[in-house]
Amino acid sequence: EETSKETAAPPCRMVVLSGPSGSGKTTIVERILKDSPVPIQMAVSATTRPKRVGEIDGKHYHFMTSDEFESHRVADDFVECAEVHRSGFWYGTLKSELARIQESGSWVLLEIDVEGALKLMDLYPDAVSIFLQTPSVDEYERRLRNRGTELDEVIQRRLRTAKEELKSSDRYRYRVINDDLDRAVGEICTLLKDTEKNFHA
Ligand code: 5GP
Repeated sequence: EETSKETAAPPCRMVVLSGPSGSGKTTIVERILKDSPVPIQMAVSATTRPKRVGEIDGKHYHFMTSDEFESHRVADDFVECAEVHRSGFWYGTLKSELARIQESGSWVLLEIDVEGALKLMDLYPDAVSIFLQTPSVDEYERRLRNRGTELDEVIQRRLRTAKEELKSSDRYRYRVINDDLDRAVGEICTLLKDTEKNFHA
């Protein structure tokens, strides 16, 4: 009895969320954290990109210099890391971050790019992987432009990435279309509740 308890892998309470930039990921994430039917925490990624106005170190990201990031990479501290959007900036999920959240018994929520997500899906086949879609590429473009914070060149680059990422969407366990925020959040909350229920079945 004791031995089987020790060797049985704990259920993997992990949500891996990706979607093209402009698919409303940030808003969805905020709503999931607020409305989730199960305890859930966001894994704070490490990044080498500069802090944007309003971002807080340790809350939105662990902001690092390239040297700091590289020494974590060499020390094998990341579950996955990738250069995102060919921006020259690196993003990574720290093992310590996953451990911290999982030890607390919470679900862990990861909002990461397709490359990182595919890696995590290989490592954690039971993860609830969700690809967030907007109705069309035109719609991504409209949302990106509405944000009004990005340069045209950045928008073009992100649209290219979006089109490529869309092709990978069939690798995810679930696809959720973010045409209506409440419906999309509701769909994801139901997925969480159902998966949690199955852990106890
Ligand atoms: P932003 O610079 O706009 O905050 O994020 C850019 C992209 O980086 C997002 O599409 C997000 O999915 C991705 N990202 C954030 N954290 C990670 C991470 O830890 N690993 C990977 N692979 N991608 C990440």
